[in-house]
Amino acid sequence: MANYEFFKFVNQNFNRASGYLSIEKGLLSQIKACNSTYHIAFPIKRDDGTVEVIHGWRSAHSSHKSPTKGGIRYAMQVNEDEVNALAALMTYKCAIVSVPFGGAKGGVKIDRSKYSNSEIERITRRYTFELIKKNFIGPGVDVPAPDYGTGEQEMVWILDTYRSMVDSLDSDGCVTGKPIHQSGISGRTSATGRGVYFGLREACSMKKEMDKLGFTTGLEGKKVIVQGLGNVGYYAAYFLREAGALITGIAELHGGVYDEKGINIVKLKEHIRETGSISGYPDGKYIDDSGKLIEMNCDILIPAALENQITEENAPRIKAKIIGEAANGPLSDQGHKIIKERPSLIIPDIYLNAGGVTVSYFEWIKNLSHIRFGRMDRRYEENAMERLLEAIEDLTGTKFSENDLKRLGKGPEEWDIVDSGLEDTMVMAYNMMYEAREQHKTDLRTAAYITAIKKIALSYQQLGIFP
Ligand code: NAD
Repeated sequence: MANYEFFKFVNQNFNRASGYLSIEKGLLSQIKACNSTYHIAFPIKRDDGTVEVIHGWRSAHSSHKSPTKGGIRYAMQVNEDEVNALAALMTYKCAIVSVPFGGAKGGVKIDRSKYSNSEIERITRRYTFELIKKNFIGPGVDVPAPDYGTGEQEMVWILDTYRSMVDSLDSDGCVTGKPIHQSGISGRTSATGRGVYFGLREACSMKKEMDKLGFTTGLEGKKVIVQGLGNVGYYAAYFLREAGALITGIAELHGGVYDEKGINIVKLKEHIRETGSISGYPDGKYIDDSGKLIEMNCDILIPAALENQITEENAPRIKAKIIGEAANGPLSDQGHKIIKERPSLIIPDIYLNAGGVTVSYFEWIKNLSHIRFGRMDRRYEENAMERLLEAIEDLTGTKFSENDLKRLGKGPEEWDIVDSGLEDTMVMAYNMMYEAREQHKTDLRTAAYITAIKKIALSYQQLGIFP
């Protein structure tokens, strides 16, 4: 992992896709280039009184749209190359799902398990302060969100630090992924995993593709192994299980669980929360080598941890025919090539994990408009539906049951609106990417890049700078 050149890998994919397009070279270079990267080093007082210098980065890959958008990662392998690569992926991801943002990403090089909660708070607030100082954050500039190693709590600290330093009506839109009572939106926490589910559901609904793999259509009964039971992996597994898939394996950092009969994901998460470890889970079989677990028999493999997990070394042993890239960059270039050579379907990260940024976009809109989705029209829609149902009863002479009246007459809550927006986005984007694949006779990853590059190029061309 240490020497992995992630940005080079992203650019290889970009170059491959560019070969299918007749776009001027200068414009392609502009789209590909990382516009700005900021490296920060700041001191933090540890709980024991010692001082440590922490390194952080924020990269704005493309500002063809404002603001830029992307998560903040806390992990030991964070470096400038990784942040640039992840920011570039954000640019292409936003284009694929038609979210009007440029791509960005931030990272702090720490192993968060080695810091107390108050140390993490000090690191988060200081990192935010440094971003504010250089105008690298703001609702119209650059808007962070959670990523690996961060969540709602860090987003609240970012919000609070920003609010305390910037006096603006729109301050709440400086960060997304906030809890609901801190200007967040219903459905953001589960959005990336839910998007993974919608994407896989769409892919598995296509008979032509499933026939090629020797599968029936639908998710029901499909065996799934997930690598990483964090935010994305948990919710992806949760919704897939609800749809009838069997979660047969969960690979975590220091071991995993395998159960042919299917794992109760809620119970397993509860066990990890209570004991701090996946080992000792009473059902299924404990596997101490999680690298081996992802090579076990299954239909769908969902890498939901980090980049460069399936490489030329282990790709020949991966059995899954469908790979759903929930993490960013989980397959190396060689890993992708090896799996592609056999009957398989690789659903690329820049499409499959775009649910998070989609709902972040909804949250940002909510913050700028200062109103919850559904607030103005929910009751109006309920009343209109009630009148319609009464008219149907009068005309047909039949009476709806209390249950039917409740079900049919329900106006949309914020979650309903967010969820239908997310579903629509993921379904439409899959079909757009699939059409590009059919048109260019290529793989889904190249097709996803083709789709993104075309949209971004158009946006630059309309500025009049490029031919
Ligand atoms: P997270 O920190 O919530 O969870 C990651 C989990 O992976 C942790 O439980 C960790 O222990 C586990 N893990 C780490 N290395 C592992 C390994 N080698 N084998 C098995 N498990 C391992 O992170 P997350 O937010 O779920 O992000 C996961 C991936 O999804 C990242 O690549 C991130 O960039 C991407 N992503 C996240 C979001 C989001 O909204 N959080 C959105 C888009 C993409």
